[in-house]
Amino acid sequence: MEKTKKIWMDGKFVNWDDANVHILTHTLHYGLGVFEGIRCYRCDDGRSAVFRLKEHTDRLFESAHIMLIEIPFTRDAINKAILETLKINDMKEGYIRPIVFLGDGSMGILPKNNPVRVAIAAWPWGVYLGEEALKNGIRIKVSTYARHHVNSMMTKAKVTGHYVNSILAKREAIADGYDEALLLDTEGYVSEGSGENIFIVKNGLLKTTPLTSNLKGITRDSVMRIAKDKGLEVKEERFTRDELYIADEAFFTGTAAELTPIREADRRTIGQGKPGPVTKTIQETFFNIVKGKEKKYEGWLAYV
Ligand SMILES: *Cc1c(COP(=O)(O)O)cnc(C)c1O
Repeated sequence: MEKTKKIWMDGKFVNWDDANVHILTHTLHYGLGVFEGIRCYRCDDGRSAVFRLKEHTDRLFESAHIMLIEIPFTRDAINKAILETLKINDMKEGYIRPIVFLGDGSMGILPKNNPVRVAIAAWPWGVYLGEEALKNGIRIKVSTYARHHVNSMMTKAKVTGHYVNSILAKREAIADGYDEALLLDTEGYVSEGSGENIFIVKNGLLKTTPLTSNLKGITRDSVMRIAKDKGLEVKEERFTRDELYIADEAFFTGTAAELTPIREADRRTIGQGKPGPVTKTIQETFFNIVKGKEKKYEGWLAYV
């Protein structure tokens, strides 16, 4: 990973190498922290823009609210700090990682006097699953691990500890020769990838899983808007793994994965085994939007 110069920590910038925490940091031991993943793109006019900054910051605060963590900064201050982190590092494009965590203090499960700390790092990060994945699609495997039950984890929150489940699934998928995992919910319906929401297309109709055990993805929301604006119907409805097998098209969405076509699931070819027309048109529009080429969606961009 490529280092940048500065990381914002608790209200001020520190050098990349000095952005350290104590070994007794509560979050490190018990996994209660919330975070975001945000992308900034270089636009065609030379400027840079953060994609849906407000929505990401709002979700960070909602995640904290669900987890009874009080962030000691306002939303405006966090928005500003994110933009400043990009500026101070001369970053034209890349990935931004705000994290809210509980510092050292009490060591019991119950956080007591542990300070709520906030850091924002940013670094250059290209295509998450590779250029090839964006162009030709990936092969996925239904995981043997189920996504969290809605009453064991709070799945609307982007919580650090939730990702143990994602790592288990991702490692298994990679070890078995696939590119990414697809997790089912505890009732056996399709939920989401290790860090991506999923869409399927059948006879021109798009379907995505309703917001139960999966995260409320901002890319998911963007894709739903783009599809509707193109006159396509989108349903938020549960579906099973065999409905995915017989879909015409399928794709993952996420800030990291952007819009990645799925060409195969559990050794079944999806549709023609390559990105289909609906996937391609939405993907193309998505990349035009983030690069500032679609005036209609300018409201989604926060220029640096
Ligand atoms: C972050 C994430 C997503 C994608 O959300 P975006 O807002 O589109 O980045 C989906 N599922 C999980 C589990 C995630 O962590």
